[in-house]
Amino acid sequence: MVGTSTQGGQPKLPMQGVAQPTRDEVLNLPRVHISQHPVMAHKMTLLRDKHTQPAEFYRLVKEIGALLAYEATANLALESHEIDTPLQSTTGRLLAGGIGITPILRAGLGLAEGFREVIADVQVWHLGLRRDERTLQALEYYNQLPHKVNLQICYAVDPMLATGGSAIDALNILKRRGVPRLSYVGIIAAPYGLLKLTQTHPDVDIYIATLDDSLNDLGYIVPGLGDAGDRQFGTF
Ligand code: URA
Repeated sequence: MVGTSTQGGQPKLPMQGVAQPTRDEVLNLPRVHISQHPVMAHKMTLLRDKHTQPAEFYRLVKEIGALLAYEATANLALESHEIDTPLQSTTGRLLAGGIGITPILRAGLGLAEGFREVIADVQVWHLGLRRDERTLQALEYYNQLPHKVNLQICYAVDPMLATGGSAIDALNILKRRGVPRLSYVGIIAAPYGLLKLTQTHPDVDIYIATLDDSLNDLGYIVPGLGDAGDRQFGTF
């Protein structure tokens, strides 16, 4: 049984008795972008359905990742680039500087793949953070961040923003590595994690597909979709 300490012999669940903000209280936080696209709403319903099997679930995560990438990259910097078309020379524009994606392992992998469908030429910086089921603290177990940073922006991607612990830690790690600009991209956020993330990293833009109601006593998002890692990779 998961729990941190005992209360009269009963293990205390990690979010039991923890005060949480309501959805309305976090709906208009600065730098938080919640998708309003009808195609996203459609795919989210299929994703949440408990009958959706891992292969289909993974495909949907990738598609949602591509839609989120499209929204999250709308303000990227461009630079002029001279080219010759078959007819004449012209000045086009290319993305200025490198783009990085940090999938938080393992659940972030599907989202990162979707991102790469939109921008193929990205650096993928894998970061392994596992949450301790008793304390809900994030523990780093894998880090493939390069020593050289030549990015205009890096996107930390993880489908479920629950307590915010992994997202906050990932962004701390990326800031320490000297990344000049950071965004967070997720599928579902709980008000609790969203508030914690914006309070800890007010300089980071946050892009999510949807905002759910709350966390249950175990720290799962409700209504949510269950465990995003298990559902992508079939490890139940
Ligand atoms: N991680 C998940 O995969 N699902 C949740 O509901 C919360 C965290």
